[in-house]
Amino acid sequence: MSGSRLAPQGKALFLDRDGTLIVDKHYLSDPAGVELLPTVRDALLAARAKGYTLFLFSNQSGIGRGYYTLADAEAVNARMEALLALPPPLFADVCLATEAPDQPMVYRKPSPRFILEMIERHGLAKHHCWMIGDRETDIEAGLAAGIRVAGLTNGKLTAEAWAQFKLPPFPLHGTLAELVAALP
Ligand SMILES: [Mg+2]
Repeated sequence: MSGSRLAPQGKALFLDRDGTLIVDKHYLSDPAGVELLPTVRDALLAARAKGYTLFLFSNQSGIGRGYYTLADAEAVNARMEALLALPPPLFADVCLATEAPDQPMVYRKPSPRFILEMIERHGLAKHHCWMIGDRETDIEAGLAAGIRVAGLTNGKLTAEAWAQFKLPPFPLHGTLAELVAALP
């Protein structure tokens, strides 16, 4: 009686934080330093209107390096959510990958593990899921998970800088709102 199981249909965006939703201030641990990037609030509203469930997926090696604590990173997230002021819950789940680069990689991007776990847990369809970020490791994590990917040029990398990576072609946008507007 297992043959009639429906294929998963869930749509989701996996969103990087620093350089994607807020200004990348390198090892940000003070909530007072949180600055939303332009268009992000409208973009997240538009994404939800298109039926996407939102997930936050952020490498926070500053925790593994001992620069700040998980509680600090969560306080930064809380400030970001307060500034966004969107109806909760904003994110269905949050992954703060705490490993430093010299520690065993579990969730740290480019690991696809968080994405794969969420696809399973939330009944998501890979072809309806996107990893979105401003760094090559964001794109690599999405590709490793077998989902779709899109990059931003308002964070770490310009379009020219993106071109130096040996990655298959994917859309690049100047703002998150433009990116979300182009999503199916
Ligand atoms: Mg980033």
